[in-house]
Amino acid sequence: MSFTRRTFLLGAASGASVLVVTACTVDAGPAPTATPTNTPSGSVPAPAGMARSAWSSDSFARGSVSYMAVGSTVEHRDALGQPLLDRVFFAGEATSADHPGTVIGAQLSGNRAATTLADAGSSAERVAVIGAGAAGGEAARVLSLRGYDVVVIEARNRVGGRIHSRTDDSWPLPVELGAWRLSPASDGDILSELARLDISSVALEGATGESIFRSPSAEIEADPVGAPAVATALGWARAQPRDQSLESSLDASGAAAAAAGSDTGEVSGAELLEQYLHRLSTLYGAEASDLSSWFTTDDGAPPILVTGGFTAVITDALDGVETFLSTTVLGVSYNDRSVSLRLGTGESLTVDRVIVTVPLGVLQDEGMEFDPILPFAHRTAIAALGMGTIDTVWLRFEEPFWTTDATAWSLVGTDDDITTWFNLEPLTGEAVLVGIVGGEAARRMEALDDDELVASLRQTLAPFAS
Ligand SMILES: Cc1cc2nc3c(=O)[nH]c(=O)nc-3n(C[C@H](O)[C@H](O)[C@H](O)COP(=O)(O)OP(=O)(O)OC[C@H]3O[C@@H](n4cnc5c(N)ncnc54)[C@H](O)[C@@H]3O)c2cc1C
Repeated sequence: MSFTRRTFLLGAASGASVLVVTACTVDAGPAPTATPTNTPSGSVPAPAGMARSAWSSDSFARGSVSYMAVGSTVEHRDALGQPLLDRVFFAGEATSADHPGTVIGAQLSGNRAATTLADAGSSAERVAVIGAGAAGGEAARVLSLRGYDVVVIEARNRVGGRIHSRTDDSWPLPVELGAWRLSPASDGDILSELARLDISSVALEGATGESIFRSPSAEIEADPVGAPAVATALGWARAQPRDQSLESSLDASGAAAAAAGSDTGEVSGAELLEQYLHRLSTLYGAEASDLSSWFTTDDGAPPILVTGGFTAVITDALDGVETFLSTTVLGVSYNDRSVSLRLGTGESLTVDRVIVTVPLGVLQDEGMEFDPILPFAHRTAIAALGMGTIDTVWLRFEEPFWTTDATAWSLVGTDDDITTWFNLEPLTGEAVLVGIVGGEAARRMEALDDDELVASLRQTLAPFAS
């Protein structure tokens, strides 16, 4: 399947207004500027505030989430989680076979690594945990409870890792630049934790309006094409002798052609499918051409959004644990008796055992040296798994300029890359929009400076202005 850039004008049922649908290229280079065919219905005021992430250029993440690239397997994740000489243990979302790319996966991996370490060691030992994210926080919590002398070493000047809540008086609620969406199906434990810590969250389900394609007066409330086409392709692919990309499976299974030929009224089936793939890229951080057909899934359930400051979960896990911030671990030397850590401060630290939770992107870019080098199985896993990019942009306005109370917008009618938006106004009473973007579009967004991004987003949102 190949995508080309096309622009559609959609009349609302009443014919009163138009909605412009634009397909984005999967293979194209630089982001194109908005086309004149985008017909804004008003002008978007300058936001009173903007906050944005840039995870692919973040030295201590080098991407947002790991994903199953074509040819990778669950065994690669297991291999990455295997300890070395019972001295070096690995955790982090990339080592989670069941819930990769998620906070719950990271926490479970931290729990698993800490439990395995505790079985191998004794509580008189000193243990270092590298990384104060969800995996490191959980590992440190478990080991502390079991009586170990734990020290957490974190390169950033904050805890949380890819959970990053920014609290600032100018924003009415904490801005979440990393993980933010929770699944009612798989994140029950985190939701309980949020409740215990009195951290607010809002469910999209039951909130007013979750529209798939919407402008104030032209809207399609459900996508009858994208999800079924992807499900058909994945079902077909699982019966094939070897893995291939989701893009190939959509083509070879006939699902893309069937989608394109389906009678969907105002929006072509091909456009609906493409928009659905955009949405998938905000979950996996990767394009359909990169995602494995054997391991890609989507529960499709409306998420729960954390609105009260997600980082507090990590702060709570690390309560009472000795934690060094702004301390980068450059190297890990190990033998069957101890582990020595080479720190960016020029110092070294010797401990009995270590749990390494740095992101897959850091390992792929050799941001940490191991001596002796990692075994072949670890290196194979690091090379086989993919590291995707998801970015988010928060916009704060003096007052809402939009008239819709739909809480989730999958935008069509824009040449901009950010097509997935959450409207926090009906959920929190605050005039805040949050855009999420994944894959190549996210990396294009990271290349824009703030002024370019704001200008582009004001164009994107123009159909919502009255
Ligand atoms: C934009 C975005 C949106 C996301 N959305 C969701 C979502 O909605 N729901 C969900 O469940 N998950 C989501 N995720 C994924 C989720 O955030 C991660 O899976 C999870 O937080 C990873 O935790 P971790 O502990 O494995 O890694 P991290 O949180 O990355 O922790 C690793 C820590 O190691 C530190 N570190 C790195 N290198 C070094 C070094 N050399 N020395 C010392 N410390 C080092 C890092 O600074 C970091 O603090 C999202 C991620 C991003 C980026």
